[in-house]
Amino acid sequence: MFYDSMIKILPSVKLPLKLCKGSYAERIALAKKLNNNFFNHLNEKFTTKEVPFDVFEKTLKECTPGKINVNILEYDRYGGYTCFGLNDSKNGIDKFLIYFRKTPYTEGVRLLETDISLHETSHYFCHLTNPKHSARSVKMHESGLQAKTEDFYREHLYTKNEFKEEDLKQRLNKFLRKFTNEEQIDFLQNCRYRMLEEYIAFDDGQRYLDIIQDRHPDLICEKIYAREKEVYNFPEKIKIVTDKLKEVLQNARKP
Ligand SMILES: [Zn+2]
Repeated sequence: MFYDSMIKILPSVKLPLKLCKGSYAERIALAKKLNNNFFNHLNEKFTTKEVPFDVFEKTLKECTPGKINVNILEYDRYGGYTCFGLNDSKNGIDKFLIYFRKTPYTEGVRLLETDISLHETSHYFCHLTNPKHSARSVKMHESGLQAKTEDFYREHLYTKNEFKEEDLKQRLNKFLRKFTNEEQIDFLQNCRYRMLEEYIAFDDGQRYLDIIQDRHPDLICEKIYAREKEVYNFPEKIKIVTDKLKEVLQNARKP
């Protein structure tokens, strides 16, 4: 796809500006608070084991400050997925798309997949409260850096494969040599925030799956648990990427 100008992030995917202030920790705290509020409202909609997509979407919009365009759509794979929707005629991002699967046996968002649904809404609120990260993703997408680095991210960072610290450090060093300083910084920042936000999303998903089952004992047979947060070794990987980022930034500042 060819873009003749920078893709814009349009107001329908932005929170009121006064809400997006403060440090990263404050903005993440706000995202977590919004996700918690959404959970409490969604929880009340479960009178059966599922909530229809339109009810989920309406509840999410009601729990988002401002007027945000978000659509809940059907996914043909297991799990969930959150992304931006591009409006070609406006050459801008004007909506969020959140995908959940439907199966032959289910019609809505399942109570027992609250780990998945609240994981995705955590991403949604993190995107909303961190517009600069969204802007960086768009820039990486436009410049082609995203396409050149996504395999590395998927194979070595966002993976459950066995984590070997030294091996990852060496692979990262070698991989970075292909890129300019500015590209290295964008890539490392992007990886860092994506992993931080994955970790938060898995954490929220696990917690709310646990709570929702306690609130609806009549709708479940046997309690289930999500255990994904630990298997990715995100804290260790985030440290490696952050240390490398500091090193690259220091070198870039040298005369
Ligand atoms: Zn995720």
